[in-house]
Amino acid sequence: MKLRAGILSTMLAASFCLPAIAEVGNPATPDLAELTKMTQRFAPTPLKVDVTKLSAGDRKALVYLVTAARKINDIFMKQFWDGDTALYAKLQEDTSPLGKARLHYFWLNKGPWSGIDGFKPFIPDVPPRKPEGANFYPTDMSKETFEHWLTTLSAKEQEQAKSFFSVIRWNDKASKTLKNIPYSTEYSAELQKLAQLLRDAAKETDNETLKKFLNLRADAFLSDDYYASDVAWMDLDAPLDVTIGPYETYNDELFGYKAAFEAYINLRDEKESAKLSSFSAHLQEIENNLPMDAQYRSPKLGAGAAIRVVDEIICSGDGAHGVQTAAYNLPNDDRVVQQKGSKRVMLKNVQEAKFKSVLLPIAEKTLPKAAMVDINFDMFFTHILAHELMHGLGPHQIKVNGRDTTPREELKELYSAIEETKADITGLFALQYMMDHAKEMGMDKVLPSDEKAQRQLYTTYLSSTFRSIRFGLSEAHGKGTAMQFNFLMDKGAFVKSADGTFAVDMSKIKSAVTELDHQLLTIEAQGDYAAAKDMLDKLGVMRPELQKTLDTLHDIPNDIAPIFVTADDLH
Ligand code: ZN
Repeated sequence: MKLRAGILSTMLAASFCLPAIAEVGNPATPDLAELTKMTQRFAPTPLKVDVTKLSAGDRKALVYLVTAARKINDIFMKQFWDGDTALYAKLQEDTSPLGKARLHYFWLNKGPWSGIDGFKPFIPDVPPRKPEGANFYPTDMSKETFEHWLTTLSAKEQEQAKSFFSVIRWNDKASKTLKNIPYSTEYSAELQKLAQLLRDAAKETDNETLKKFLNLRADAFLSDDYYASDVAWMDLDAPLDVTIGPYETYNDELFGYKAAFEAYINLRDEKESAKLSSFSAHLQEIENNLPMDAQYRSPKLGAGAAIRVVDEIICSGDGAHGVQTAAYNLPNDDRVVQQKGSKRVMLKNVQEAKFKSVLLPIAEKTLPKAAMVDINFDMFFTHILAHELMHGLGPHQIKVNGRDTTPREELKELYSAIEETKADITGLFALQYMMDHAKEMGMDKVLPSDEKAQRQLYTTYLSSTFRSIRFGLSEAHGKGTAMQFNFLMDKGAFVKSADGTFAVDMSKIKSAVTELDHQLLTIEAQGDYAAAKDMLDKLGVMRPELQKTLDTLHDIPNDIAPIFVTADDLH
């Protein structure tokens, strides 16, 4: 699973009007001016990572890994659409200004359709939309044909046909029979090259866990059996944090079976990792002090998902089209998750780039000038870390009328809005708790706790709420954020001045956060669907004063276009 826009953020709904469709089946594609405007929604941002502290072996390994990551783009484009590779080559020959603009936006999207505009085409003479089954299935195959073909197969063959790691092609189109081709055959040339690059990198690194993962992943590229290498990925504990292979199935919009290739080559962030383990050591104490009835508290917290904080050196393939990934959760193989749990990787420098290109300009338009000193990336990121950890706290196993159940089961479709809001608000509560007890908890080195730090926490949070609801409330996360915002406005913890800017009232915010957290935790503890619905209906709405503010944010970029300067400088 991946999070593209950052914490609590929405899939980007269309926020830009594409040119009108001239004729049905023949959509007009944007001219240079329009395409430039579309492209400007992604602010070009260099991703610089300090790799000087890597061992000599790891630095050599890194060169192979970056080459491997770039190779992943070739496979991904083959998977995305069967005309992708040829069109990319053709676009490179067109040196006119429009040709260059098309090439640039194509590379951002890794194809001729604009991902944030619902995959509308921006280059002429391509299908009106990305094929639903991408190039995992024949484009002229219907869902029913596939399903019918499945019924003619043995149980084992059915499993193979639905596997993550194979494509489906016509065996004989006339009789509508299909065949299953494993990735190791379909992408044989690329995967053999990739396996060699991973083995070369494995030879150079002096970290045993990385060596093991790379060798096993190289084997997997040639055998289509990724299990052992997924297990090794869970055990990976190295300065170079590598994720490479076929993972997510979002591009298979037909069935969600087929995994797309992607790579993230990252450097572990030692400072944030230390902060994280310091927070993790105090989770039980925070649980014991959560603002909810004592009977709902968990006397012994479970292990929770592993979290890694890294800086991204390069990403590619499925990880590098459209809105940039800010964090991801893997693996997707349930057998590995059962055995080893899952791991969440947070890309700190990508979050920071989004913060600078999107959140800062939003803050400049929504807060008074004097408040800008309180907009702080460290606090922004610390709150994201707290949010992730807080998913592990609060009610998980509950009883309703004597029945054992979970908040997810009871709150149904409202659960994700409530749970995301709970993680946000409990995150604020937990950070305030740690700031209040920093000395006794021995946290004064990792978490500043003076008045200024507290102001930064809440002011940065205020401006981040505008970012999260900017694209509307059609989706659970946007609704949840509007609910927080409206609750805090009603309590006077957020205030709007006559000039239209917003501010935090520090004398009211702490008690308002505690009160809201109490309500959310109690809804989860009691599995109270009616209370959740009432709260979302009343508060998860766009009020005119909020809409007016959001209307001023149109020109601010939606996301970043990363430039991998550290990767480009390697040799
Ligand atoms: Zn969350």
